Amino acid sequence: MNRLMLEFADYTQGEETMYDVIVIGAGAVGSATAYAAARSGARVLLLEQFEIDHGRGSSHGASRIIRYAYDHPIYVAMARDSFPAWADLESESGERLYIRTGGIDFALPDEPLFMGMRRTLKATGVPHEIVSAADAMRRFPQFHLDDAFQVIIQEDAGVLRASAAVRTFVRLAQAHGATVRDRLPVTSIIVHRDAVTIAAGAETFNGARLVIAAGAWLNTWTTPLGVTLPLAPVAAQENYFTPVSDSDYAPERFPVWIGHLQNEYGHILYGLPSVDGSGNKVGVHGGKPIDPHAPDRHPDQEVIAAMTRFSERFFPTASQHKSSRVCIYTNTPDEHFVIDTHPEHRHVVIASCCSGHGFKFSPVLGQTIAHLALTGEALRDLSLFTLARFSAEAE
Ligand SMILES: Cc1cc2nc3c(=O)[nH]c(=O)nc-3n(C[C@H](O)[C@H](O)[C@H](O)COP(=O)(O)OP(=O)(O)OC[C@H]3O[C@@H](n4cnc5c(N)ncnc54)[C@H](O)[C@@H]3O)c2cc1C
Repeated sequence: MNRLMLEFADYTQGEETMYDVIVIGAGAVGSATAYAAARSGARVLLLEQFEIDHGRGSSHGASRIIRYAYDHPIYVAMARDSFPAWADLESESGERLYIRTGGIDFALPDEPLFMGMRRTLKATGVPHEIVSAADAMRRFPQFHLDDAFQVIIQEDAGVLRASAAVRTFVRLAQAHGATVRDRLPVTSIIVHRDAVTIAAGAETFNGARLVIAAGAWLNTWTTPLGVTLPLAPVAAQENYFTPVSDSDYAPERFPVWIGHLQNEYGHILYGLPSVDGSGNKVGVHGGKPIDPHAPDRHPDQEVIAAMTRFSERFFPTASQHKSSRVCIYTNTPDEHFVIDTHPEHRHVVIASCCSGHGFKFSPVLGQTIAHLALTGEALRDLSLFTLARFSAEAE
């Protein structure tokens, strides 16, 4: 049973360990937060209900896209900080997590989001090229694009090894002294005036601060605290296609891509190279509602059929369907993240950094959330990510 109690007495520490911060959820966001907090010298406890790098949330898998191409400068600024943060993580861990492939965005030239990206890339000085479909296909002959499309090419975009990154955050958090407990679902939170007590299984843990980074399960914990976020978990389906020649779709030869084809396909489509023989990945940026407590994880056959037809049209040398898996996107109405302190309990930080695009920023999100939890101060501009925007919408 999930239970939450509020106690307004001061918390007095007994014999038990008092953590500086307890983090609920070891997805990309929680594990990066635990790593950043532990690296800064804090005593950290990271709690995960399933095994580390499980496939039931949002962070598991072979690959995620990292790119600058956004229509809002806050994300471009976060991307600017994320590239060196990934490099730092690679050098500390010895793991290769980022593969530079270059990235392309294609759309009809008057598509509004695409136009916004062009404007923002120009205004923020990110190196990029705008080319015709024919030019893009000369460079990347795997694509069959419509003549009418315009293409943005951004050379720094690439692939992140998602599961390896989550495992690396956890491993390095532990190396910096964090306690990590997996297969241990949190069952109750007691908020004191100056601390929290968390029950998980038969154990209880005390912390001065709490970060709730519980992905699609977030409202289970924030609603009893008086904050229900308008989150919409959806079944995001990744589909893999076997190329005629895998090396043509390997990261060395094939870029990450975004197709701004909402008008035709109902959603933005995206894709990544075949990483370690995974097959050419084609994903839909959206999906049908899913209940994280009772999820239907069967791949949707209609999506497979539509993405097979899409691949026959756009990637004729990689259109044989290989496999599909369902992952969860936890969307906010405006697709911006939530990073904020609870309005009454300032030692509780609420983080929802998904809407299908949070992975690329995870080292920076981790630093930002850890800093907010430990100091109460914002390390960067968080004005896009407030809780208050939802109450303003409701008024
Ligand atoms: C198919 C797909 C493709 C994507 N592609 C990209 C991409 O190309 N680029 C990009 O930047 N982003 C991408 N994203 C988004 C990115 O993966 C997410 O933004 C990110 O993984 C969110 O991580 P999270 O930690 O918030 O959530 P999660 O990974 O879901 O982690 C939340 C964790 O909380 C745990 N938890 C919940 N309740 C409890 C409890 N009671 N006790 C203990 N633990 C609990 C859960 O088990 C879970 O492990 C994609 C997402 C999906 C699903």
